[in-house]
Amino acid sequence: MAVSLESLGWTRRFAEAYEPHRAPDVVPARVSLEHTHIYRVMTADGEHLARVSGRLRHAATARADFPAVGDWIVLELPTNSEDPRDVARIRAVLPRASRFSRRAAGNPTEEQVVAANIDVVFLVSGLDGDFNPRRIERYLVTAWDSGAAPVVVLNKVDLVADPAPFVRDVEAIARGVPIIAVSAKQPESMVRVRAHLGDGRTAALLGSSGVGKSSIANTLIGEDRLRTRDVRDSDSRGRHTTTGRQLVLLPGGGILIDTPGMRELQLWDTGDSVTATFDDIDALAEGCRFRDCRHATEPGCAVIAAAKDGTLSEMRLESFRKLQQEQAFQLTQQDERARLEVKRVGKMGAKALRKVLKDKER
Ligand code: GDP
Ligand code: ZN
Repeated sequence: MAVSLESLGWTRRFAEAYEPHRAPDVVPARVSLEHTHIYRVMTADGEHLARVSGRLRHAATARADFPAVGDWIVLELPTNSEDPRDVARIRAVLPRASRFSRRAAGNPTEEQVVAANIDVVFLVSGLDGDFNPRRIERYLVTAWDSGAAPVVVLNKVDLVADPAPFVRDVEAIARGVPIIAVSAKQPESMVRVRAHLGDGRTAALLGSSGVGKSSIANTLIGEDRLRTRDVRDSDSRGRHTTTGRQLVLLPGGGILIDTPGMRELQLWDTGDSVTATFDDIDALAEGCRFRDCRHATEPGCAVIAAAKDGTLSEMRLESFRKLQQEQAFQLTQQDERARLEVKRVGKMGAKALRKVLKDKER
């Protein structure tokens, strides 16, 4: 299926960056799926599997130099399409217009780009029990950091009598940012989301688990294409795994990016939310002797002192500790999952991956 580069998000900015790479054997392409050693990329003429060229690998000085989903790249087409080992090569990554990053699993000081070149990021919250302006505030910071333009989406508007008070709460912390109230259960309300999309505009959904990101994505796509389906991976002895398409062209125009890394940004955010919901403890902690005091057994801990003299209730400290533990557990799980995924994909050959991708299309 042929599509215009513009529909894939190509702009003058990228065209200019591509110019010095122009050559008879290369074409511009956009990364639509990332695994550790192999990528799926889209060109104006169709899709290819691609690997990073030796030259790009050697030139890379950091992990962030490697392609990520959403990246525009210079693609060298395979010379022998009959040979399954002969895949396309990624010669260069064009400078990013925006990027979402996280700390790499196993190396917290290393940046890992989880999605690139997103124009608009929908910060989704639910108008059910979960509504929390402080959390929206933190997502806004993440959005501004990335270079993408944020839109606050208040989902599940069908569950409240009047969304106006919620909108006012968000207006107070998000000046100048569009705020829309929608319901994934009311497809007609998606026009408010689509108003920020349009041909060639790339979007992503960010928000805590359960706020309705998948539901909104499915409504936009018009089918359950994002629902990850179990795929049998013959290379890992029948273990089940899920593979999803991470960059989707929307039927009404626009592109939606949904990578596992973007999904993990929502878990990542729990790190701050512990302190945000316990700002009283946070304030007390200013008086702790050690900057990284965990308020457990450290000497000179102002939090423990406050609990002793009754300024801080024991119960409050107890629930803080509980949340702290949950969070530590979640972070460990996250790292473990990332480690297993890297190991699994690393073992897969191009052929096996091709099969997984093909199965997925059926
Ligand atoms: P995600 O974790 O952010 O992807 O959230 P999901 O899309 O899986 O939705 C979580 C739950 O909220 C599911 O049970 C959905 O059916 C429900 N949900 C999503 N959007 C809406 C909505 O607009 N209204 C109502 N009432 N429920 C919704
Ligand atoms: Zn302390």
